[in-house]
Amino acid sequence: MTATETPVTTPTSTSTVGTATAEALRAATAVVGPARARHHVDGTGTAVPLVRGANVSMSRTRDVLGVLRPRTVAEARRVVQVFDRFPGACGLQAISTGHNWGLGSREPAHDDVVTLDLGDLAEVRALDVDRGWAVIEPGVTQGQLAACLAGTSRMLNVTNSASTTSVIGNALERGVGFRAQRTDDVLGLEVLLPDGELVRVGWWPDAERHTPVYPHGLGPGLADLFVQSDLGIVTAAAVRLLPRPQAQRVVRLRFTDAGLVPAMDAIRDWLVAGLVDAVPKVYDAAATTRYGGDGSAGQFVAHLCVDGTERTIDTLVQLLVDEAHASGAFVAVSASDEDRDLVDVDVAHDFAGDPSRNDAVFEKTFGTTPAGLDASGHGWLFFLPLVPMTGADVASAHGLKERIAAETGVRFGSVVHVLSTDYADFVMSVRFTAADRDRVHAALDLAHELFAEAGFRPYRLDVDHAAWVDRLDPDPGARALLARLKSALDPHGTIATNRYGVPAR
Ligand SMILES: Cc1cc2nc3c(=O)[nH]c(=O)nc-3n(C[C@H](O)[C@H](O)[C@H](O)COP(=O)(O)OP(=O)(O)OC[C@H]3O[C@@H](n4cnc5c(N)ncnc54)[C@H](O)[C@@H]3O)c2cc1C
Repeated sequence: MTATETPVTTPTSTSTVGTATAEALRAATAVVGPARARHHVDGTGTAVPLVRGANVSMSRTRDVLGVLRPRTVAEARRVVQVFDRFPGACGLQAISTGHNWGLGSREPAHDDVVTLDLGDLAEVRALDVDRGWAVIEPGVTQGQLAACLAGTSRMLNVTNSASTTSVIGNALERGVGFRAQRTDDVLGLEVLLPDGELVRVGWWPDAERHTPVYPHGLGPGLADLFVQSDLGIVTAAAVRLLPRPQAQRVVRLRFTDAGLVPAMDAIRDWLVAGLVDAVPKVYDAAATTRYGGDGSAGQFVAHLCVDGTERTIDTLVQLLVDEAHASGAFVAVSASDEDRDLVDVDVAHDFAGDPSRNDAVFEKTFGTTPAGLDASGHGWLFFLPLVPMTGADVASAHGLKERIAAETGVRFGSVVHVLSTDYADFVMSVRFTAADRDRVHAALDLAHELFAEAGFRPYRLDVDHAAWVDRLDPDPGARALLARLKSALDPHGTIATNRYGVPAR
């Protein structure tokens, strides 16, 4: 909990919610203890919104009526049961470490929630390096789990975010790591349902015998119901640990605007052929510069990971280098460890499951540590559409990004994460100052419009664009089904509607 979470005495718009919430907060405080509860009740017995710190996206701060920080799953469970007993109270918003920077950080999508901060549930409950899984709690950070695996035959699929970010929080957001989309790492989930029942879905280790680490089980897959979801609160996850390759090298390929289409098509061909591994990353010059690399030549740079054995790695890298030269799409090809900038070094560590260099990139990008980012006064926004993985589609997305720059003066940087042979995550990010806040947010609105029109839909939304989920879902029947599931599982609205949920009518 931050020191800035002090109360403000403006009553919440719906005072009946405020009164019921005050009663629920009183009961929940008895569960977690007063030092782990922040809320303020005015003279009329109404819970009033806390004044909280800024978020780096400079998104509107919502009315949060309380923050509860349990120490154990048992406490979290009792908090959920308390809120379920007060049907008129506002819902709970779960966060793991709350570092959803660029998408709203800790902010909920809607006003009038109580935040359930699970950051202190930080135990690695079990780890099996031989079989490739770990059972972790929401407060376990990628730096913490990666450190447990250093020197072993397994590694974590890490993201480019700070080492202090949560593995579970990122996976539940469908975040993207260097080796795969993080949801692909989720084997099973331990979930608190809105009535306080604790269930395990998907694969979970059997204490008596070794079972194959197979996430799907029998019957409909239930784990995905709790991803980007307000149907339950996740208190632990079984996550996949990847085999660590004997040898790994990163080949860097530079190309100009003219090479964009052939370069992306070549990368796809190499993925199909099995010549490159992991998630190829393609930075434009603006992104390279923003992350502390050398983008001065104005070129794109592709970072391609090659895995092998000690005996095969040189041959595999040479094959890729030869292919790159033969394609004619690239102006520079390098497999060397020399002349690497901050981004090159960081990316190589991330491909190897080591997020420890990411914090240095944060300091270069923002001039502050990750811990200080939200309060730093810097602005940062992400826009995260998926594009089909063809050179023509990536070029078309790039063209839309350039059009936004021309029309608004706001230049997003882009990093293409090639998630499969068929789709790529076209990450657009922008750093800005408070003076530019409105102009940059308007450019983000324009990005939503232009990319949706082109069919390039985001797979994650920031807090200010939650309403887009209804515009983007191809079938209204699917939204209606989700609303039915929500009212069946959570008739009292114990869990607050999140960015992807269907607001109660
Ligand atoms: C420079 C920079 C680089 C970044 N690089 C990446 C990157 O490479 N890949 C990437 O994916 N992101 C990246 N990010 C974005 C972001 O920082 C990460 O996604 C981060 O992991 C999310 O924050 P968190 O882990 O603290 O999750 P949280 O903020 O705790 O959780 C995220 C969301 O998941 C849900 N949630 C969390 N915990 C629970 C729970 N226990 N039960 C139910 N729902 C829950 C909530 O909706 C919550 O808002 C980057 C950000 C910056 C600034």
